[in-house]
This record gives sequence, structure tokens and C-alpha cells, in this order.
Amino acid sequence: MKKRESILRPVQRIKGGVNLPHLKATAEKETVVMPAPKIVNIPMSQHIGAPANPCVSAGDKVFVGTLIGEANGFVSANIHSSVSGTVKSVGEVIMNGLPSVCVTIESDGEMEKDPNLKPFKVEKAEDLAEAARACGLVGLGGAGFPASVKLTPNPKQKLTTLVVNGAECEPYITSDYRECIENYNDVLEGIYLIKRVLGLKRVRICIESNKDEAIKKLYEIASDRRDPKDKVKLMRLPEKYPQGAEKVIVYSATGRKVGPGKLPSDAKCIVMNITSIGTLYRFITTGMPLVSKRITVDGTAVSDPKNVIVPIGTSIAELLDFVGEIDENASKILMGGPMMGIAMNDKNAVVEKRNNGITVMKEAKPLKTTPCIRCGRCVQYCPMNLFPAMVEAAALKNNVETIKTLNVNACMECGSCSYVCPAKRPLVQSMRLAKAQLRRESK
Ligand code: SF4
Ligand code: SF4
Repeated sequence: MKKRESILRPVQRIKGGVNLPHLKATAEKETVVMPAPKIVNIPMSQHIGAPANPCVSAGDKVFVGTLIGEANGFVSANIHSSVSGTVKSVGEVIMNGLPSVCVTIESDGEMEKDPNLKPFKVEKAEDLAEAARACGLVGLGGAGFPASVKLTPNPKQKLTTLVVNGAECEPYITSDYRECIENYNDVLEGIYLIKRVLGLKRVRICIESNKDEAIKKLYEIASDRRDPKDKVKLMRLPEKYPQGAEKVIVYSATGRKVGPGKLPSDAKCIVMNITSIGTLYRFITTGMPLVSKRITVDGTAVSDPKNVIVPIGTSIAELLDFVGEIDENASKILMGGPMMGIAMNDKNAVVEKRNNGITVMKEAKPLKTTPCIRCGRCVQYCPMNLFPAMVEAAALKNNVETIKTLNVNACMECGSCSYVCPAKRPLVQSMRLAKAQLRRESK
């Protein structure tokens, strides 16, 4: 094992961001596997980009891992069956108030693997992108950007650095943490495979400093004998939200800024989260595509929180039934953590690839919004150096000329401004409104 210099401090500390309560009750609990649900509704759009084209019909027999939706263009992703059984229908299903084209499959309860699955040979960069595409891999940290796009080599952009995102800075969620501990070998091999195949100079494995067990595992990865020149380093980041946001983590790991409308590749970096790396390596070695997710189910209304391996397309209702012991006064279900999670008003909505947590909260007193007192806290804590109070004032007056001067598209909707505002102003919603006003203006 190498010496302690394999651990680095951040190159740059982010301005702003907030200190949130840790609340990681599931961190040391082993993940449990949910039995096959009776029905799965698998959406054809679980990613940024074009929805997949369904390639099965009602009555078809499918297995775990059978292709059921083909990527429709460069920015799209393949979709696979998460259960074995029979396709019941292909068509629109209403979820959370919106229509979504789904393949609905009745499970036979056997979870039989597709016999045609086989390991995928990866020798060069093009193979890695092809593997990500065949796996149906999308960014598993929440954004859902197809991984094949970021792994496709661009001769004009020489990538130098793999930033491994293990920050997982939202309260409650521990799914990457458990991936690191339970699938250590997949993460280890995946990191060295990506480094070798893409010809990257260095790897920065980034994790918040409060994740002790995962740090030990990741330190072993950074100390592997395949890295005699010590180009793979562990970086302990301060416990600060939103440390895991892509632009923030690139800045912390390399000191390079990713401007508005730019991607990490513009800063010669590729960012992959820990579960994405583990999933890609498992696909390459077994041929099993992305068909299930580890979901942290936690929150004030959950008395026995868990990490659960859930077949994609399982309804939230069925997952919560499996977890059990949900307080009857639960009033809010968030797909994601309390900071960036999306409120669900429909328990028939399903677990998708990009989900990593479900937070169920007890009824809380409604927040009383009062006028802005111009304290400046929202500006002080914004990691992107924005002026949320000014954006809100302009958005409420539909003053697009002022909005244009305030760089609103740099906002990553992290919610730090709303969290610190003593007047409880709905600042994130105002940022979204301002972005929509800009979009409308530019049409
Ligand atoms: S303005 Fe956007 S980026 Fe800044 S704190 Fe608010 S939500 Fe986060
Ligand atoms: S934090 Fe709230 S009260 Fe303070 S300036 Fe911003 S919007 Fe106004």
C-alpha cells in the first residue's frame, strides 16, 4: 500500500454551499434485494435526450436484461426488461400527472436472466462508449445524461482526468456509499479500466470526509499496485452541499471552471459517479445491462430505513410496501433527497434509472413566506455566485431584460439559496421561472 500522499485536499474550495445535517441512517446497513414485483411499467424516457423506441409487443416473452427499447439517436439510451415475464402492453401510462410511453410487463416471479447475455469486450475508447450504450447506462447521480455520449472520444477535446464522484452530499442518501462497500471490486476494476482505455493521465476519487468506511475502500483503490506513479488519488472534500454537483466537483478536484452551457469535457475532465462505474464494469464482465437500482428509502416518516435493490419500473407504492413501517402521517414523498428531490403526487410513479433515493417526510408546518429583508444570505451561499433575490424580483415582474444580465442559466437548482433564506422565499422556483422566461423570449 502506498503512503498517505495518496490523499489530497481539494485544489479549490467552493464558495458558498451549505452545511446540512448528515442523516445517513442507512450507511452501515447491508442492502436488501426486493422480490420481483407483479407488474413493472418501464418508461422509454428515463434519460436526457430522445426517448427509446419500444422494440417488443404485447404477448412477447422477455427475460431480465432483454432489450425492450432501442436508443433513438446519439443522445438517447437503450432500455431493458428488469423482470422475466410477458409484455402486457406498450403505450402511454399516466405517472405523476404526465403521460409516459411505457412497456408494461407482467412478471412470472422467476427473475430469469436473458440467456443471450454475454460479456462485452473492451479494448479501445470506442468500445467503452459502445458498452455504455449497450448497457443503457445513464448518469446515475441524478441527471440521467447518457453515459455513451460522455465516453465517446472527441479528437478536439483531449481528456486528461477522470473525476470519480462519490460525494453523495444530499441528506439521507447512501446508495453510492453502499456500492463502494458492497461492490468494491467492480468500482476498483472499473476505475482502472476507464483510465487505461481512455488513456487518462490522472484519476481523482472525490468523497466527503465524513464517509469513513467508504474512504478506507477508496484509499485501497488509490493505493493499488497498478498505479506505481501515484496518478490515482483520493481527495477528501469538505462536508458541504452541493459538493457532488458536476461543475462543483470538477472545480474542487482540478481547480478548472466549467462555464455556463459548458461540459466537464471542456475542462478536459470526465465525471462519473461511483455506481455508474460499478454498473459499467458489471455489464462488461457479465453482459447484464442496467435493470435495477439501489434506492435509499429514508426520511422522517420511515422508521426502518433501508437501501433496496429495486427492479426498474417498480411502483413507489410497491417499494414502500416492501420497506414497511411508513408513518401514517407521511405527507410528502420525494423522488431523491430533500434538497433536489421531486415531489411525487402519484404512488404509481415508478423507480427509474436515474433515481437513487426516496425520501418520505412526516407532515411539517407550512413555511410562512415573508418579504425579502435584503440580508444577502442567498448571494453569500450560492456556489455559482448568482444573485437569487435579484432574479426573483425580476422574474416576478417578468423583466426579461434584467434577467438576461443575471446569468440565471448557471443555476443548478441546488436549493442552497432557499435553504438559507430567513424569509423563506421560494428562490429555486424563481430561478426556474426566470429560465423559462428566457427560453420563451429566445423563441
Ligand atoms: S441560485 Fe441556483 S445555484 Fe445558486 S444557490 Fe440558488 S439554486 Fe443553487
Ligand atoms: S436570503 Fe432571502 S431575505 Fe435574504 S436577501 Fe436573499 S431573498 Fe432576501
